[in-house]
Amino acid sequence: MQRKILLNENEMPHHWYNIVSDMENKPLPPLHPGTKQPAGPADLAPLFPMELIMQEVSGERYIEIPDEVRDIYKIWRPTPLYRAIGLEKMLGTDCKIYYKYEGTSPSGSHKPNTAVAQAYYNKQEGVKKIATETGAGQWGTALSFACAQFGIECDVYMVKVSYEQKPYRKIMMNNFGANVYASPSTRTNAGRAILEKDPQSTGSLGIAISEAVEIAASDPDTKYALGSVLNHVLLHQTIIGQECEKQLEYTGDFPDIVIAPLGGGSNFAGIAFPFLKHKLTNGNKVRCIAVEPASCPKLTRGKFMYDFGDTAGYTPLLPMYTLGHNFSPAAIHAGGLRYHGASVLCSQLLKDGLIEAVALQQLECFEAGVKFSKAEGIIPAPEATHAIAQVMHEVEKAKEEGVSKTILFNLCGHGFVDMQAYADYFDGKLVDHVLSDEDLTTALAEVDALQPA
Ligand SMILES: *Cc1c(COP(=O)(O)O)cnc(C)c1O
Repeated sequence: MQRKILLNENEMPHHWYNIVSDMENKPLPPLHPGTKQPAGPADLAPLFPMELIMQEVSGERYIEIPDEVRDIYKIWRPTPLYRAIGLEKMLGTDCKIYYKYEGTSPSGSHKPNTAVAQAYYNKQEGVKKIATETGAGQWGTALSFACAQFGIECDVYMVKVSYEQKPYRKIMMNNFGANVYASPSTRTNAGRAILEKDPQSTGSLGIAISEAVEIAASDPDTKYALGSVLNHVLLHQTIIGQECEKQLEYTGDFPDIVIAPLGGGSNFAGIAFPFLKHKLTNGNKVRCIAVEPASCPKLTRGKFMYDFGDTAGYTPLLPMYTLGHNFSPAAIHAGGLRYHGASVLCSQLLKDGLIEAVALQQLECFEAGVKFSKAEGIIPAPEATHAIAQVMHEVEKAKEEGVSKTILFNLCGHGFVDMQAYADYFDGKLVDHVLSDEDLTTALAEVDALQPA
């Protein structure tokens, strides 16, 4: 049985797939927070290069990947698709389990797929510097690498708690030439305002976004970049699923179930949307399942409404499942899944019943991740363990129903820079967190006031 399904460089897709073209209910427009009118390209121009803004609002089905971007992708793409033979044996299942491994990239996750594209379009428009935020450091690492490829300066606002507790990601960014600042910092109004209220603030993703956006908005040579959530980011990630489609053609399979963890929605969209296309256009029954942590359950317990993407309220209002822009999730180890909202595209698809969502506790996920390490020899990122745990649930369900399914999941990153998380798990220091209804109601209350009439 073939264990590893590889593609040649020349089989790498030439286009990204834009699911908007196949959605019956198009996503609602972002709104200007002041006027509550749809935010147009001009509103986003201070932050993003025009080509990315046009992708953000595009209805075209396929958008060509520039040759310069494909050239850099070739450092690690096409990525391998694995048949999880070891895991199947360990679970004693008749199901076929496949996983796409995005951990072979320069930063160890799927994020360079969009970082390289974003840096390229910024370079085309003469941008000198890009400012961004990073939580645990995966996005900052990816963008630092991408900026180094194009000779663009990169400023990263890193959530302070990670800056202090996870020094290795910062050093990776320094290797790629980026400047890394602990957020909240004294460099911005947003950062100073937080520090004035709470000098001991350890920061949050929402605060770090506010800082990076403020820097970009106030300097004509600097733009901003986001590592998830936005339509153009999800678009760039669709190279993952399109490669999988080709790889599965070689084995003669098509998935019954596609599973990925969801933070903002980009790696889920990346692997799922090219398969969901078959459901939207020819009635294929594929189930696409997004897995979120129980401590940050925007899809399963949040509300679909307009909300800000950041804490300070600098971004346009986005129609999405959200826990409220001031929601502060428990300090779980899957840092990449701690964002308060889900992308507009994933939110609309969930609202329309075209995708599914589940929330899982972190202990169960780490347990699944450790099992996977033993069976397959790859130590997964804590985020990716959420997908693995859900695969195990689906295998169990198939066993009960006496059926065999083909399951595909996204192993969106390795966990080599997350050893502290595994150490804490082995030392029994990790606990499960359940968000109380009370905290949820409080976090959502102030979002009600933002809704358009
Ligand atoms: C950032 C990240 C995520 C979550 O972000 P999405 O936009 O939902 O993909 C998940 N896994 C890894 C390894 C990440 O780096």
